[in-house]
Amino acid sequence: MHNTISKLVDYHCHLDLYPNYQEMFGEPSSEDVITLAVTTTPKAWAKNKELAQHSRNVRVALGLHPQLVAERADEITLFENLLNEARFVGEVGLDAGPRFYHSYDLQKQIFIRILKACAVLGNRILSVHSVRATSEVLNLIEEHLPSDRGRVVLHWFNGSKSEADRAVKFGCYFSVNIEMLKKETRREVIYRLPLERILTESDGPFTTTSNHPSVPKDVTIVVSKLADLFSKRKIGMQDQIAANVEALEYGPGI
Ligand code: MN
Repeated sequence: MHNTISKLVDYHCHLDLYPNYQEMFGEPSSEDVITLAVTTTPKAWAKNKELAQHSRNVRVALGLHPQLVAERADEITLFENLLNEARFVGEVGLDAGPRFYHSYDLQKQIFIRILKACAVLGNRILSVHSVRATSEVLNLIEEHLPSDRGRVVLHWFNGSKSEADRAVKFGCYFSVNIEMLKKETRREVIYRLPLERILTESDGPFTTTSNHPSVPKDVTIVVSKLADLFSKRKIGMQDQIAANVEALEYGPGI
């Protein structure tokens, strides 16, 4: 019997990049959707915290996006200074795609500094980008962030089955968005993930749901698609994902 419906979860959304960002932080749907508001530069931290101060369900993450590292590597100092006040970290990671490969070495240096800073402080939750760099992201996490010092959510995971298995062994969570469920080959990789490691994300405004830039409440469609994939009822899937966030943020082990 269900007395209450679990909240939806959007564990990777760029709330500050919507034209109507003020509404996005305050709109009623943010009361119903647990939202991780990732940022792309540490300079955005203060404003995001201010915008989120009245929303119970919005967590703000401190970020330094790998696609911006070429121009903003010097902001790592600000990142390190602000990390004291941030439990959530993201968007961070590596991007070895053709547009950003030129800064790949610098991205690795920055990501290592972020992982080390998180390891020193402990108890941080990271939303990690890994375009064409899954193995290297996992290598650096294994080397620099002991699993009892922080937890990693792989955002828009695009790795192979063996990389998925490796990430699962290491304790990673996976935030799944609508684009990731479009291709059968990608669904096969998601299908082998343990249910207790799966979260949902919109990655709005960079994904599209029903011809509009996705917003947090659109994760309800991702929940339906995941329920179909795992042959579960939607309400069961939604409960599972809400329980996963609870375990990620408050469970034992960090
Ligand atoms: Mn993103």
